[in-house]
Amino acid sequence: MFFVDFEGNAADPRTASALDELRAAALFVKILGSYPAKALRAPARPGDVPGQPPAERPLSRPESAAQDPAEMLEAVAAAPRPAARRSRQYKLVDRAARPADTVIPVGDVLVGGDGFVVMAGGAHVLRGGVFKPRTSPYAFQGLGWDGLDLLVRAGRESGLPVVTEVMAVDQVPRMAAAADILQVGARNMQNFDLLRELGKVDRPVLLKRGLSSTIEEWLAAAEYVVAQGNQQVILCERGIRTFESATRNTLDLSAVVVVRERSHLPVIVDPSHGTGLRAYVAPMAWAARAAGAQGLLIEVHPEPEKALSDADQSLSFDEFAALMRRLAAVPSGTAAGTTEGP
Ligand code: PEP
Ligand code: MN
Repeated sequence: MFFVDFEGNAADPRTASALDELRAAALFVKILGSYPAKALRAPARPGDVPGQPPAERPLSRPESAAQDPAEMLEAVAAAPRPAARRSRQYKLVDRAARPADTVIPVGDVLVGGDGFVVMAGGAHVLRGGVFKPRTSPYAFQGLGWDGLDLLVRAGRESGLPVVTEVMAVDQVPRMAAAADILQVGARNMQNFDLLRELGKVDRPVLLKRGLSSTIEEWLAAAEYVVAQGNQQVILCERGIRTFESATRNTLDLSAVVVVRERSHLPVIVDPSHGTGLRAYVAPMAWAARAAGAQGLLIEVHPEPEKALSDADQSLSFDEFAALMRRLAAVPSGTAAGTTEGP
């Protein structure tokens, strides 16, 4: 349905042809009026004689479309549904390009497919930010390269692959040499230079969803990496900005279902940044698994109240262990479109 308020006269040939196109595409078009009511100059038609006034004829075509709202609604209900119009901003990450799930090996762990991977202060993958994208320049910015050395050492000692955030193009080579998964933070999801650079290395990329990004923009960002040759992209839903203020972000679990339908890439969920509050992390982690997420990313700290970043959402070891125990009892979600429960 189209409501147009437009400067122009229905008798003007260009306007008339625009209206014709609109009629062809719209279910319902009603011309409310044309101002000025008369064409300033009637359009030329075959048979008009140059230099002489055109023959008398109506300036606009008769209106045939339904006019009453009930008729209008009926017309809409009866019209065939247009095929869902999918943007073509990505091709390689599209499920249509590769129907089977992408499975990404990280050390001994497989990310994607029917597997379920937990990245935290332990579990399957060890996570820790060494370069921290903080809202305030006065907040703790991370330990930098020294932190990376510590993280890599901890990974080696615990036998776990490590994931950490890479913030800038010039950090990529050194990060790729040391870390097992390179995280792109929400704030950098559309840093296209960084994405292209990560497309050139042979390391899995954990691409967080931007704070205000649509799912389509997120998949298009993944395409930047894949289009450069690196097919190892793991998507991470971490909550988006909405009007809701009871939680730090709004964790969009529906994105999991949508992404799994539209793309073959693995998708995991970060309920820590997604909710911002410790008490909400476990329920959302369980829900993520039931929704079909292929893993979790969770903030854990030995003494959460002393954490230099995101203390309110960090779990203690005990809380994390309790979350994991219950997680095992949550059945893993199935694909979109199914009517069978997990
Ligand atoms: C993080 O994982 O610690 C982080 C900074 O996350 P995000 O980019 O989602 O805010
Ligand atoms: Mn954090």
